[in-house]
Amino acid sequence: MHHFKYNNGSLACENVSLETIAAEQGTPTYVYSGATILNNYRNLDSALSELDHEVAYAVKANSNLSILQLLAKEGAGFDIVSAGELYRVIKAGGDPKKCTFAGVGKTREEIEFALQHEIYSFNVESLEELSFINDIAGELNKVAQVAIRVNPNVDAKTHKYISTGKSENKFGVDFEFIEDAYKNAHTNFKNIKLHGLQMHIGSQLTDVKPFVEAVEKVAPIAQKLKDLYNIEFFSIGGGIGIVYDPALESGDQAWWDSQSEDERPLTAELYAQKVTPVLKKLGLKILVEPGRYIAGNAGVLLTKCLYEKKGNAKTFKVVDAGMNDLIRPALYEGFHEIHALNEDLEKDAINADVVGPICETGDFFCQNRDVANLQAGDHYALFSAGAYGFVMASNYNTRGLPTEILVTGDDYKVIRKRQLWDDILEAELEGLS
Ligand SMILES: *Cc1c(COP(=O)(O)O)cnc(C)c1O
Repeated sequence: MHHFKYNNGSLACENVSLETIAAEQGTPTYVYSGATILNNYRNLDSALSELDHEVAYAVKANSNLSILQLLAKEGAGFDIVSAGELYRVIKAGGDPKKCTFAGVGKTREEIEFALQHEIYSFNVESLEELSFINDIAGELNKVAQVAIRVNPNVDAKTHKYISTGKSENKFGVDFEFIEDAYKNAHTNFKNIKLHGLQMHIGSQLTDVKPFVEAVEKVAPIAQKLKDLYNIEFFSIGGGIGIVYDPALESGDQAWWDSQSEDERPLTAELYAQKVTPVLKKLGLKILVEPGRYIAGNAGVLLTKCLYEKKGNAKTFKVVDAGMNDLIRPALYEGFHEIHALNEDLEKDAINADVVGPICETGDFFCQNRDVANLQAGDHYALFSAGAYGFVMASNYNTRGLPTEILVTGDDYKVIRKRQLWDDILEAELEGLS
């Protein structure tokens, strides 16, 4: 569910017209719905209510300070993948003691920073890393709370770039070696407290089965580790998928109701219902680390049509957003629904490629799709752009990072100013001779 729909012929986010935002703030601009973010968070939190649990938002999906603040106020924990993200969480008023730190390449500086802030857990991805954390904790006279990430060798059935739970992926310790890893850690590392067990099999999973398979495979190990080392939590990772198509209709209760049980997309309720029975009997605290599920359908990218270019083979709608603003189509073959802000224009469709201004053939948002036949100056919204959107934006082609806006009810505010040319060049000026 989300809060983007047509209202009196104009696409709105909650009660704010996106045409108004485009006119007042320019484009390209990301717009997020506060209500959708909170709704998603609360849905998952309440679906898991039978378990002693915590929802740790995966910061990398959308790390804007105002989004983090919204979730911190709601009591969320945070799953971070760099010390920079921890720094953000702290600035936004989040509690470092509710942070878990994942990632295969943590540096000394990052480990020190996280130890100083006494994070809840380092989610460790190798014995080499564990040994390094143990040394640093010793130097600082601290005990590091850790979970080791197990790679359960389960096929998440998602795009190959976002699949993380197979043994050929770089993540975690192989399932076969995980018990030995704990034994080794328990025997050899004095500045480590074995605090939990972690896994994360991939992102954008639209079927519940791989989650169930992984949880059933790993739960007996969690039980053993609890008995042997008194671990406190089992993190089952993130990865709950969202509806990219049809993104617009999926915001509508009537659409959800019209879907049969089998066709209905993965929901927090179904996810929780399937994993709860296996997890409940463990008596461990259960962590989930959703990113996309919380933020994905809570954001759109507004872009203006600059030109229509008619070629021999195709029609191109050239827009002012590019792959530097939203890279998912180029990087993951990601799909984004595209709609006109002016509903009238939706009635006139044309088969076209919607492309950006970047000098790359991969710089497109759709190919050979029926889209609203916009003219120069009209606007499109690219749907489901709230996660892995702005956070992956770059300055490629010396383009400033887009504006970000948060809508709450009748109001909107700028939560990140548009980046100007001088902001981009600043760090290079000293190099001029
Ligand atoms: C990226 C990531 C997540 C979040 O994944 P989503 O698909 O956005 O829910 C959770 N845990 C870990 C360890 C991650 O790397």
